[in-house]
Amino acid sequence: MNAINRETGAFRAQAALSRPRRRKKGRALLAVLAVAAAIYALIEVKMIERLLPIEWFREVPPVTGLHPIVAENRDRLVAQSQAIGIDVVITDDFRSEEEQNALYRKGRGEEGAIVTQVKGGGSYHNYGLAIDFALRIPGGDVIWDLKYDGNGNGQPDWMEVVAIAKKLGFSWGGDWKSFPDYPHLQMDFGYSIGELQRGWRPPLQPE
Ligand SMILES: [Zn+2]
Repeated sequence: MNAINRETGAFRAQAALSRPRRRKKGRALLAVLAVAAAIYALIEVKMIERLLPIEWFREVPPVTGLHPIVAENRDRLVAQSQAIGIDVVITDDFRSEEEQNALYRKGRGEEGAIVTQVKGGGSYHNYGLAIDFALRIPGGDVIWDLKYDGNGNGQPDWMEVVAIAKKLGFSWGGDWKSFPDYPHLQMDFGYSIGELQRGWRPPLQPE
């Protein structure tokens, strides 16, 4: 018994010298393969692909105008507001990154008040997913008055327009806690600015 034990002991001792290295290498390789497989699976089920730049997958054409669904709802907003006696003016829609940067410089070294908190690429306008509105009053003046009640129904026209916009699926910049942007309406289709900056775009047709 002793001899056998001593023998196995010796065998074990020898094995202990040579095995762990091979085992460690094998385990590391398995771990790498498992991580690679997991990443591949997550990309396949589209859980993490939007964390990656889209150029890794395909080419995307630059955005040059308003998203068609946003444009459609902009027209609905104007028409539905008109129907209750409110003249809505769309003061801005798609903005190129250069235009956004020019806007950003306003009030920062350039004359005038600060009009935006974001540089080029940081606004939903840069992806054709946002519009800005104002009200036109009889006589033709354009106003940004949140309390004006031109149709005389006891409710501020501005908030009536916002209510219509929300029903159409827009979210309103006036709801933002840090820098409320009262003329601003956007449709993000579930895309964050980071995702849009990485080149991801909402489909042009509803899915
Ligand atoms: Zn805006």
